[in-house]
Amino acid sequence: MPAVRALFAGACNGSIDALFKRASAVNASNGPFDLLICVGQFFGAAGPDDGEYQGPLLEYLTGGKAAPLPTYFMGGWGGGAVSVLEAISAVPESNIHYLGRAGVKEVKGLTLAYLDGTHNAAAFREVPDNSGSARYYTEADIKLLQHSLSLQGDIDVLLTNEWPEGLAEGLPEGVAPPDSHGSPVIAELAMTARPRYHVAAGKPTFFARPPYLNADLGAGAHVTRFIGLAQVGNGAKQKWLHALALTPAAEMTPEALQVQPPGSTGNPFQAAAAKRLKRAARDAGPGTDLGSQDWRWQEQKKARQIMAAPSLGRPDIIKDKHKTIFVRNVPFAATEEALVEFFAQAGRVVDVVRRSNAEGRLNTWCHIQFDTKEGMEKACQLNGSELMGRQLGIDAAATGPRAGTGKPVEGCWFCLSNANADIDLVVSVGEESYVAVDKGAITDEHVLVVSVEHFPSSQSLSIDCYAEIRRYWGALDRCAAAGGRQLVGFERYMALRKSGGNHCHINALAVSAEAAARARQVFEDRAKAAGFSLTHVPAAAGEAARAALRDVVGDGEYFQAFLPDGSSLVHPIAFGERHPLNYGREVLAELAGVPDRAEWKACAVPVEEEWRRSEAFKALFKPHDIMGVQE
Ligand SMILES: [Zn+2]
Repeated sequence: MPAVRALFAGACNGSIDALFKRASAVNASNGPFDLLICVGQFFGAAGPDDGEYQGPLLEYLTGGKAAPLPTYFMGGWGGGAVSVLEAISAVPESNIHYLGRAGVKEVKGLTLAYLDGTHNAAAFREVPDNSGSARYYTEADIKLLQHSLSLQGDIDVLLTNEWPEGLAEGLPEGVAPPDSHGSPVIAELAMTARPRYHVAAGKPTFFARPPYLNADLGAGAHVTRFIGLAQVGNGAKQKWLHALALTPAAEMTPEALQVQPPGSTGNPFQAAAAKRLKRAARDAGPGTDLGSQDWRWQEQKKARQIMAAPSLGRPDIIKDKHKTIFVRNVPFAATEEALVEFFAQAGRVVDVVRRSNAEGRLNTWCHIQFDTKEGMEKACQLNGSELMGRQLGIDAAATGPRAGTGKPVEGCWFCLSNANADIDLVVSVGEESYVAVDKGAITDEHVLVVSVEHFPSSQSLSIDCYAEIRRYWGALDRCAAAGGRQLVGFERYMALRKSGGNHCHINALAVSAEAAARARQVFEDRAKAAGFSLTHVPAAAGEAARAALRDVVGDGEYFQAFLPDGSSLVHPIAFGERHPLNYGREVLAELAGVPDRAEWKACAVPVEEEWRRSEAFKALFKPHDIMGVQE
């Protein structure tokens, strides 16, 4: 039998026409080819898997158009995938075929092993349903595939949607791809399957690895060539279509099969597995013979720096805040698996969302959704327990800062529409926010910047409202500077569920330059005395400041101090933590030189005095007011 000529394509993502156009052109110029094999997501991202399919495949299935050559695809998920897979199985005469979830198939003389879906720690433990969608593979899929492999001879091509973990092991620098993160499940599969070729999708770049040698199981060993394909029609012009002429292994002599081409490396997955074992032995702690303490400490430090991969969440899971927890202080090294494993004691985890920031650093917080509300509630009780030596802060996601509706809350002092709101204290009203003298002002220069709508924290405000509050802060800062003073302040967000929820307000106080210079120290000293710590967050413009805050506190409660240089000090308030209510006022009162005015009740004055105060501040602020007309 002559060599089988095959074309391989990377993730199609619904670009059927682009795929067939290019395959047809290559078939005409370099062909004929016997078949086209597609790895990676085949369907587009828009729409649910079980929704209606509206893409170009319909014409190919109804006979309006024909694929340029017999096409075998996996990646059977994405918009409308379920209905198309059903239609394909009903039209056997079509030359477009779905390979299936997991298995081994002989196609045109080639023995193909395939695993559809990608890895998700929560989905991995699920019992697969029969919906036909293969977005995530499960443990059952792997077992089935391993069983099929044990019954097979040599595998010509292994097809996966992800790269295996450890692929770059044993490669010299410069040859290794910039990003070689991969799945340990796929690595194990590659070790068992020992394919002659492994074709995978899952990365935006093309990569062909120098061949690596498989373990010799007694009858000699052959090499595997790994080929990672980019997305169909990608703008970066990374290669996504690859041609191979393959003589089926079944027809090769053992000598031909076992040729080791120059440049071949050892087995990268065995090397990676050995490293993992070493790490596990080290984690077993003292008593294991691992040499000096110093060496162990160095290794532990290295292990801590190993960062888990982000978890982007499952599009097939409907987000439900009432079944979701928000977790803070998550170790960098905690993988999705580790989190699913840890929270299994509370209930069945169905989704983990943990992103990284703009610099690629993994967030120290995440959202975890359970299959029931009870699971979520049980998980909240784990607040304060340790994972990998770090204490987790666990909160119900539904009580986060985005819980507000913006609607006025009866009895709220800050909702201006309420009868008991102190309109007389208002100094300036903007489009989205206003400035008012504090009802229990520490000094005549103590004001609040408040959102007009009832939202619980600055994190939950609209972009416009937040921007206006920042403009007010800038104006107050200039107002203070005009009097030779500097601005300090704070925001405290606690959900205050019983009283209709917190209404976002920011305390601002002009203090002397001398007091401003020691503001940070006073905030830190008093925090230390109260038993909590503050994270210093550098000054940032506009929305970047909110993103920086979110990096530290996520959706949780927090205290945030504003320093004269624009930077801030942040403390995330853990679920159930007793944060000292008067802390912010105590610091401001000390900086103002009137520590006895920290207590709010000590500052109550007759309404005439309040009125005088707001009139005085209005006059002071007028030249700087963002809403005022300059005179
Ligand atoms: Zn309110």
